Amino acid sequence: MSIKSQLQGGCRHATSIRDHETCKAGMAYDEIMKRKELGQVGCMVRLPCRGKPVGSVIRGHTVQPCNKYSPLTDEEIEQEEREIQEIMKDIESGVSSCCKAPIDESRVIPDGQHKGHGPRFCSKCKQVVYMV
Ligand SMILES: [Zn+2]
Repeated sequence: MSIKSQLQGGCRHATSIRDHETCKAGMAYDEIMKRKELGQVGCMVRLPCRGKPVGSVIRGHTVQPCNKYSPLTDEEIEQEEREIQEIMKDIESGVSSCCKAPIDESRVIPDGQHKGHGPRFCSKCKQVVYMV
């Protein structure tokens, strides 16, 4: 799937659901996906934030409406796509996107079943560049 098709219809307020309880517009993800009423199963599928049409049924779950939903414009999608491509390019050449410093792989698991997994840090500012 291309970056563009993943961003299409996505909400400008969306944040990483893994790291945040609310989006930039202050909507609580638990409430949008009605975690209490409808349960944990398929809760992510019910979020409209990533461009799934409200009311459509995806894998047996109806996408819930959100009154702060505001889709990205084509220009914003292109801008974001360019930024993601820049980051990918940096990672491919082995430097962090924040400081263009070498990527620190000292905490990557060297062997065994989870070989290659673990966080990659920027060797300069120590921020996580990406996780595998
Ligand atoms: Zn950095």
